[in-house]
Amino acid sequence: MELLVKNGFVYDPLNGIDGQKMDIAVKDGQIVESVNEHKAKKIDASGMVVMPGGVDIHTHIAGSEVNTGRLLRPEDHFRDPESKTSATRSGVGRSIPSTFTTGYRYARMGYTTIMNPSMSPLEAKHTHEELNDTPMVDKATYPLLGDWWFVLEQLASGDIEECARHVAWMMNATKGYAIKIVNPGGLEAWGFGHNVNSLDDQVPHFCITPREIIRGLCRVNKLLNLPHTIHVHTNNLGKPGNYVTALETMKCVEDLAAGTKPAIHITHCQFSAFKGDDWKTLESGTEPITNYVNNHSHVTLDMGQIVFTDTTTMTADGPFQYGLYGLTGHKWVNHDVETETSAGIVPFHYRRKSYVNAVQWSIGLELALLVKDSWKIFMTTDHPNGGPFTSYPRIIAWLMSKKARQAALKRLNSRAQSKSLLPSIDREMNFYEIAIVTRAGQAKALGLSRKGHLGIGADADIAIYNINPEKTDSSQKFKTVRKAFRRAAFTIKDGRVVVENGEVLKHVDGRTMWLDVQVSEPRRITDDLKRRFKEYWTVEYENYPADEGCLTASLPMTVKARV
Ligand SMILES: [Zn+2]
Repeated sequence: MELLVKNGFVYDPLNGIDGQKMDIAVKDGQIVESVNEHKAKKIDASGMVVMPGGVDIHTHIAGSEVNTGRLLRPEDHFRDPESKTSATRSGVGRSIPSTFTTGYRYARMGYTTIMNPSMSPLEAKHTHEELNDTPMVDKATYPLLGDWWFVLEQLASGDIEECARHVAWMMNATKGYAIKIVNPGGLEAWGFGHNVNSLDDQVPHFCITPREIIRGLCRVNKLLNLPHTIHVHTNNLGKPGNYVTALETMKCVEDLAAGTKPAIHITHCQFSAFKGDDWKTLESGTEPITNYVNNHSHVTLDMGQIVFTDTTTMTADGPFQYGLYGLTGHKWVNHDVETETSAGIVPFHYRRKSYVNAVQWSIGLELALLVKDSWKIFMTTDHPNGGPFTSYPRIIAWLMSKKARQAALKRLNSRAQSKSLLPSIDREMNFYEIAIVTRAGQAKALGLSRKGHLGIGADADIAIYNINPEKTDSSQKFKTVRKAFRRAAFTIKDGRVVVENGEVLKHVDGRTMWLDVQVSEPRRITDDLKRRFKEYWTVEYENYPADEGCLTASLPMTVKARV
């Protein structure tokens, strides 16, 4: 299987390639130096943009909360059916598409790797069944560990090494990829109808604070040499004034960072960048956050951009969702996952004329544009929380064009318009920067060495967009940009052409990546541990782990820990 992508304008930031016209050679699913031009299948990419396949660091596409969202919202489905074709299966869904549809829609936009960011460990098997059914993309998922009883107990007792051995065991047992922390301590408190409001509040019954949970798991992450940092949804998310908490969260691991290596990822930062005392006085808290990020190298962020549409919010942050239910009076699901985590789901419509929503829209873009180094902030909508992932082309256009932002801004709530920082921001990203915030930066932050670039040995995941950077002024022609990114001219997955002109040609299964963390002295599975499984969960120890047989296409990544 040889393939030659000829003559495209290549944007490959991890290899420093900025729009040079060149060929990309592919053999057996990998990028290679060269192929036999006579034998290889050729794709003429003249006048087109060639990038590595898109990488999404944070998108809720599988597992119990997503599936419950689907059950909750039949109205989301019948508005948006996906017809069967000779190559693809049928499906439904706008904000919470069915599994197959999710894979097809990502592939149509040139995405080839996506990360499902919140998995209750107890529901790992279900999550993997859905990931198995999500075609076209490679994927991985992050177990929720910030409110897990064993972790809280071990961190409270100060036994970091034992906690690390336990987390290593958990990565294997859940087939997970990174440590996810959501409203640390708040989810456990929510089990008793409470929440935590600062990094130094006590978590009921555990003699531990959110600060100690974040710092403890940051140290565990380093002991285990995990490829990605801790992935943190901050305390007080979605509350006015919470930018202070976001700043404190970043600061609290400052001394744990080694050199210029990131130590923490703050996810969907837009929802954590609010200034003000209440909803009426809400303002953007972007500037203090971006100032901090511009002056420190241990933090990465993703945007959590909102778009004006009907969507479905879902998070493990049960108390946040309860608050949102109170604000909207909409349907609501609350779920407590035994001793591990909580979850909530509420439908939501972001409105242009809502002051709060308009400020939120502005905050997401301000963050992306005011963080000077594109390797520190990545494009997401926290799908489906800020809007469905199918809105990415629209966000790319906003990032590339002040004119596009101005056109959107002038339709918003007028008070929000007058407060927005966007009119004062002239920055417009170019294709190179777009390649960083949509794939290269995300792959780097995730430690995925074969993704997000087109160097020799990389997986042959390639996106080709029908837009000519020499002839198109992306600052002016933002609709052309949007159209090009909506429907990839070609998407190539593992060296196979799977999408052409925005249509899926071929159904291929992606792989599930997970960490096989090797520790020198593994977690002892004692009778006491088994007994506690019996006490803590409805599932016994023997039935708890998701073994490799749960994965249709397993891709373990071996990590050598320092414990
Ligand atoms: Zn999320």
